[in-house]
Amino acid sequence: MNGSSETLLRQAGLRVTAGRAAVLDALSETSHIGADQVYRLVSRRLPRTSIQSVHNVLADLTDAGLVHRIEPAGHPALYERRVGDNHHHVICRLCGHVEDVDCVVGQAPCLTPDSVHGYAVDEAEVVFWGLCPDCQAAVNHDGAPSSHHTKENHV
Ligand SMILES: [Zn+2]
Ligand SMILES: [Zn+2]
Ligand SMILES: [Zn+2]
Repeated sequence: MNGSSETLLRQAGLRVTAGRAAVLDALSETSHIGADQVYRLVSRRLPRTSIQSVHNVLADLTDAGLVHRIEPAGHPALYERRVGDNHHHVICRLCGHVEDVDCVVGQAPCLTPDSVHGYAVDEAEVVFWGLCPDCQAAVNHDGAPSSHHTKENHV
């Protein structure tokens, strides 16, 4: 069990469990991954863990503010450890690769809507969509991305 994950869990007022620590460590290893990939990483260390317990742990960690959940349209939810800094994401339409984009404004919410209908707005979720450099190169090469490339998992 990773020492810093234990400390984080304690600081967040959560009981330290092997599953929670393993999920935090998995997300330190790779960012912007879905529950399935978290499960694969966690089960290397805890072979008896279940996908359902990984989902439960992700929900607990998200509620506790230790993990940020991104829900890009048409994609399963992705998780990351980078929380609380109002950064944004750029996502590749073809392969789904995700990169962090620092917010030019910095504080949340960084967009000013025309009208918020009386809501106290504290966050603006911004997702930039496009083609990553690899997919741009693949498209320019053969006019269409190869099937090999679109199946490739960049994260
Ligand atoms: Zn791509
Ligand atoms: Zn991010
Ligand atoms: Zn911003």
